[in-house]
Amino acid sequence: MSDRTAVVLLTRDLRVHDHPALASACSAFDRVVPLYVLDPALQRLSPNRTRFLHQSLADLREALRRRGGDLVVRRGDPVAETVRLARAVGAEGIGLSADVSRYARRRERRLREECERHRMFLRLFPGLTIVGPGDLRPAGGDHYRVFSPYFRAWQGTKPRDELAAPERVRLPGGVDPGRLPDPPGGESPDAAAGGETAARRRLTEWLPALGRYDDIHDDMAGDDTSRLSPYLRFGCLSPLAVANRAGDRSGPFVRQLCWRDFYHQVTAAFPDLSSRAYRRGAQEDWRYDQPALDAWTEGRTGMPIVDAGMRQLRAEGWMHNRARLITAGYLTRHLRLDWRSGVAVFFRWLLDGDLADNSGNWQWVAGTGNDARPHRGFNPVRQAERYDPDGTYVRRYVPELASIEGKAVHQPWRLPVPVREALDYPQPLEVPGADPVWLR
Ligand code: FAD
Repeated sequence: MSDRTAVVLLTRDLRVHDHPALASACSAFDRVVPLYVLDPALQRLSPNRTRFLHQSLADLREALRRRGGDLVVRRGDPVAETVRLARAVGAEGIGLSADVSRYARRRERRLREECERHRMFLRLFPGLTIVGPGDLRPAGGDHYRVFSPYFRAWQGTKPRDELAAPERVRLPGGVDPGRLPDPPGGESPDAAAGGETAARRRLTEWLPALGRYDDIHDDMAGDDTSRLSPYLRFGCLSPLAVANRAGDRSGPFVRQLCWRDFYHQVTAAFPDLSSRAYRRGAQEDWRYDQPALDAWTEGRTGMPIVDAGMRQLRAEGWMHNRARLITAGYLTRHLRLDWRSGVAVFFRWLLDGDLADNSGNWQWVAGTGNDARPHRGFNPVRQAERYDPDGTYVRRYVPELASIEGKAVHQPWRLPVPVREALDYPQPLEVPGADPVWLR
């Protein structure tokens, strides 16, 4: 009698622990093919993320080999390659973690059609978020549009059981695992390395800070948030497992994980989140100013807290949340440039760059999104003085200002003229018609 075989198509769930699709296949089938298809269309989007992805795949391959299996790697169209391999090994079907983007939904739809044509099953599994997009619906709507009621409903859900990593993974005979190319070079010299091993280490190292999260998460210089976002982005960690380790579901850290679920359920219902204003009637009268956009992108606006954030992004492929709020607020509220330009710049550099979280947060800041108070302002100087009170964060990322002590670093235009003129640092960008009170 022949062995029963299934293929598990891995996408952004690059782990062996708490992986519903992999665990289910390993318990129900004799042979399992964990497959990753390198899609050239995605590889071009962000050198930083491509590098992180390759590191994560190499780590996953090791973990699967330790369990007697392997990571099978192919290159090309994920649907064509997956179906081809499934047919070649005589698989009964394909398992996949459900995802929300337009790209992912199209991939699911095409896979379903091909599976039907070849009389195979396609089964979708949870795992991308803690609570599945679409699992919670408000009365009279298909998704929650505002965070607070979503969070209340979310806290009341009963999570699925967390799953152990499979003990053994048995590949069918004769499958060529395929070569995993060496990780390509990223753009950010100080970027974190990918992989489930690094992710689990980071979680364990960071957990002792959890109890202080509410006090420290806005301290830009302290840099004490978890930095788990790239690992969650690529599924090197299961968000459910992170929430379980954190414990208290009403605590401030788990609340942040809920924001992630929130934006995923918004994206599932509104897949245009990266290109179209979410809020009906949102005012959109953006300026076009390429030199200003370039200055912002390259961290030379003359507004130190903004430049520090953008330079952290370029150096590390990551930016502190408070700096993301300040830089995004500066682009949209002060420069009055289109939030879509900001989405694109962040999306190129961020290791955690994710359609739902990036676009959802940008729209929130720009006032076109889910914010119940769409007209909130972000005065960068006030923000800097509050969240980087002695200027350490700015001096860390803007070396031209390293000689300016204390909070004076936030307003170099106020320094005595000879001191200011000795600095190799630009004057703040001027914006036609703007009244930047913080420059007075
Ligand atoms: P922690 O503070 O330790 O939080 C734990 C986890 O909660 C994070 O890893 C993340 O998965 C989740 N989380 C925290 N804050 C948010 C939030 N506001 N929205 C959604 N999830 C959140 N996060 C991304 O993961 N990808 C993005 O592309 C992204 N783009 C952003 C763009 C803008 C303009 C802004 C203002 C925020 C963006 N964020 C994004 C949210 C947030 O800044 C990062 O998740 C956070 O800074 C990551 O650092 P951390 O892992 O140390 O977070």
